[in-house]
Amino acid sequence: MSAQRLSSRQLAARLVDFDTTSAKSNLALIDFVEAYLESHGVTARRTADATGRKANLFATLGPKAAGGVVLSGHTDVVPVDGQPWTGDPFRAVERDGRLYGRGTADMKSFLAVALALVPEALAAGLKVPLHLAFSYDEEVGCLGVGGLIADVKANLPQPRIVIIGEPTNMKLVNANKGIAGFRTSVIGKEAHSSQPQRAANAIVAADELIGFLARVAEEKRDTGPKDGRFEPPYTTLNVGTVTGGNALNIVPRHASFAWEFRLVPGDDGEEIVARFRRFAEQEVLARLRRAAPEAEIVTEGLARVPPLTPEPDSPAEALVRLLTGANRAESVCFATEGGLFQDAGFSTVICGPGSIDQAHQPDEFIELAQIDACEAFLRKLIAWAAKA
Ligand SMILES: [Zn+2]
Repeated sequence: MSAQRLSSRQLAARLVDFDTTSAKSNLALIDFVEAYLESHGVTARRTADATGRKANLFATLGPKAAGGVVLSGHTDVVPVDGQPWTGDPFRAVERDGRLYGRGTADMKSFLAVALALVPEALAAGLKVPLHLAFSYDEEVGCLGVGGLIADVKANLPQPRIVIIGEPTNMKLVNANKGIAGFRTSVIGKEAHSSQPQRAANAIVAADELIGFLARVAEEKRDTGPKDGRFEPPYTTLNVGTVTGGNALNIVPRHASFAWEFRLVPGDDGEEIVARFRRFAEQEVLARLRRAAPEAEIVTEGLARVPPLTPEPDSPAEALVRLLTGANRAESVCFATEGGLFQDAGFSTVICGPGSIDQAHQPDEFIELAQIDACEAFLRKLIAWAAKA
């Protein structure tokens, strides 16, 4: 194939046109990216999920050496179901200085700019390698990138720095909250609603458990660890879904709810879960079992994303300060893959085009000026990597 030359905007539009909602396969997009890189003589590595329907992609520009800089982004996007979009979310449209479409801000434009500059990076004679790391299933709890990180750790020269291109309006960010997400299912015992003494009401039990979580959340707000860089500055709780019961005149046998804590750096998700399990077992389950020995309370993990902990003057922060001229680092409340890279030993910051305000919204867009700003930033990175 002859080398494909596509602008950042063209590439952003191409990537948006792939419907990579997390529940679906991302392989069409990965195939496209791999063929594009191949056309420039760059061979990519894949790490697939267990079903083979999704894959991460990792590629190296420049020397196959340690000490490189990873440009990291996720390929998946959040669903559009139920959102009032004006046009087709998976047909990118340029209008009024903006590019519209699902994933324009979060975060296909960053991937597009990195890809558009591949020819320039290759021509620059890089001394420090630049790596592209594109993941799947970020939006459902950063589930995909672990395979990519494990592959890099086990098989490749070790990068030194990771830049996560999540939308920060190209500002330097060195901290984000983590997530610990769970689903708890309660199995009680059903009976006609006129006979509650023969039953164990699963919804009432779930309500007690949710009440416990709400009290933990209040405690976190009032006396938990504080980090003034976040708004709000404490660990927060959300109970996002509740289901249970079949009819008003049946004592419900089943109830379940999904819940998460967003943790400030330094707070301990394990501690919350341990206390929750203790309460569930000793208080709620013990009582349910007096009425129904078969009762169960099961809590399964849905997502565990460690916080990105600020490391002032880390190699990543120093590099991005140098390239952007930023003299301070900010923090964001949304979770990213950054903490996973950091926990694997790589110096990590977040800096990418677009605004999180537009992410996950109907009529998601990115200002074209942000794409231009990201291009300028990555050109400086290329120049630095060629000179370093
Ligand atoms: Zn994102």
